[in-house]
Amino acid sequence: MNVQTPPKLRHPEKAHKPDNAVSRKPRWIRQKKIVSNEYYETRRLMRDNELATVCEEAACPNVGECWSKRHATMMIMGETCTRGCSFCNVTTGKPDALDTFEPGRVARAVKTAGPAPRGDHQRGSRRPGRWRSGTHRPDHSRRASPEPGHHRRSVDAGLPGQGRRGHAVFAAAPDVFNHNLETVPRLYPTVRPGARYYQSLRLLDDAKRANPSLFTKSGLMVGLEETMEEVRQVMDDLRAADVDFLTVGQYLQPTPKHHPVDRFWTPEEFETLERIARAKGFLGVSATPLTRSSFHADEDFAALKQAREAALAARA
Ligand code: SF4
Repeated sequence: MNVQTPPKLRHPEKAHKPDNAVSRKPRWIRQKKIVSNEYYETRRLMRDNELATVCEEAACPNVGECWSKRHATMMIMGETCTRGCSFCNVTTGKPDALDTFEPGRVARAVKTAGPAPRGDHQRGSRRPGRWRSGTHRPDHSRRASPEPGHHRRSVDAGLPGQGRRGHAVFAAAPDVFNHNLETVPRLYPTVRPGARYYQSLRLLDDAKRANPSLFTKSGLMVGLEETMEEVRQVMDDLRAADVDFLTVGQYLQPTPKHHPVDRFWTPEEFETLERIARAKGFLGVSATPLTRSSFHADEDFAALKQAREAALAARA
């Protein structure tokens, strides 16, 4: 008898949830997909090396622009996340066995992509729960592209999880250590039930204390029901942890099973957010409807370095 296995659910923990209507995007969110030769080359590079990217898994609206610049956010240690955040489109479930050849393929992809155009940037994002120090680390990517003076790709390690594993990531000394708070603490029980706000803040604080010269970065989504006052408080919390760079973007609902969009913040409101964040002392801020934590990370990294140099020179 031929028994067919039922297709795997992408978000099994959300399957029983009622559908939420997906709001129509306002005109300032709709984006023309840029598709170029470089876009297809980046796609082929990821496929040939069997690598998963946040760009595709999270259905990022910026994929056309980023891949055309050969800029991608690779997920390491597979493509399945053990959490089930209500906003996230990454496949959830039990993780597959670790693939010991994956670090080599990541390094090969970075190497094949070649030296970056000025400031180009390569970013690694790791799904939670599977870090093994010494097997999958930001320094593998750096070794594949080792000459910062010759436009090597900078390594921005994004970490969705918390706890001791995070310490292994920042100990590997990426150029930028990114850990997103994603939302305000009041919404954690519904938006990020598997995470703890203050634990995330602590991780960012620990990263900076362990290496004061490390750039730290965090991101927020708006449109989940937060208030401006709550966002301001999160900014204060991040500054207290000495976080250098803040990204704020509009939350977009991937499917009816995901958290609904409460509202679309206007471009003017994003400008206000950016002004407030700068006034609070962040070295760098990106706040636009389409900002994602890795969007334009190449330019952001260059700007961060300049801003720090200017701040140090002003103090001398
Ligand atoms: S913004 Fe980040 S996740 Fe989105 S396409 Fe660009 S690199 Fe990928």
